[in-house]
Amino acid sequence: MTQFIQVMTQHPWLFVAIVFIFAATIGSFLNVVIHRLPVMMKREWQQECNHYLDEYHKDTIKPIASKLAQPIDDYPEKYNLVVPGSACPKCKTDIKPWHNLPILGWLMLKGRCASCQTPISGRYPVVEALTGLALAYLAYHFGPSWQFLFAAILTFTLIPLIGIDLDEMLLPDQLTLPLLWLGLIINLNGTFTSIHDAVIGAVAGYLSLWSVFWGFKLLTGKEGMGYGDFKLMAVFGAWLGWQFLPLIILLSSVVGAVVGVALIVNKKINSGNPIPFGPYIAVAGWIALIWGEQIIDWYLSTL
Ligand SMILES: [Zn+2]
Repeated sequence: MTQFIQVMTQHPWLFVAIVFIFAATIGSFLNVVIHRLPVMMKREWQQECNHYLDEYHKDTIKPIASKLAQPIDDYPEKYNLVVPGSACPKCKTDIKPWHNLPILGWLMLKGRCASCQTPISGRYPVVEALTGLALAYLAYHFGPSWQFLFAAILTFTLIPLIGIDLDEMLLPDQLTLPLLWLGLIINLNGTFTSIHDAVIGAVAGYLSLWSVFWGFKLLTGKEGMGYGDFKLMAVFGAWLGWQFLPLIILLSSVVGAVVGVALIVNKKINSGNPIPFGPYIAVAGWIALIWGEQIIDWYLSTL
């Protein structure tokens, strides 16, 4: 292992290239997570709901509700991140292993199912390419180190969070909470910041958006954010320390405003529609992870 790290340190570009290929392959799995995790979550909620009705409203609401409680999706009964294997949603033909190659598989198929020619979403190769590029940059930035390894785990979790929030307006606890604990644990020996700043960061991150949420709700009666957003901000507080929170909030508002205005101008959304805030926090936090210190130094030097 030390030998591997030695070779990688001597040949940084080889390290970047290996990481790109490995990460694009993981990106292919992240596509599965983005697609399947929400389905699995909704099934779980339905089960909990049915269980509750069975326990407490067996004779009143349950008979009506059971008519509504038909399966909420038409995926197979056994459905998780591994089973069933990938298949064309239209003709159910299994995807061949070589068509599962990241980016290349989609290009080989020219974006269509091999047997029925149904278009395959361009999002698959985009997610794979973005995962590869993001990780390649981390490899270049951190080199073979613990910081790289942990930043990689963070990035591999942020990508499905972004995808699921865009699709479903959800930031699953299954993804945010482990990141929160991991951020605190790795900073026990100061990987990115001191444990002191990490603990305060986690609490302050959560409370900062929590108070914006309640302020906004008291003023307008509307809910502008979700609890997942608070947890994601707590994640970055835990990973980077409380000092980075103002920067992340500022960056996410800037990115959010630019994207939001662009979407409204292009009539992709109405100004009244809710837009997920998680992707902006995730992108802003990732930028802060890599360039945060430079941005803050630059800002302080202009004062
Ligand atoms: Zn097909």
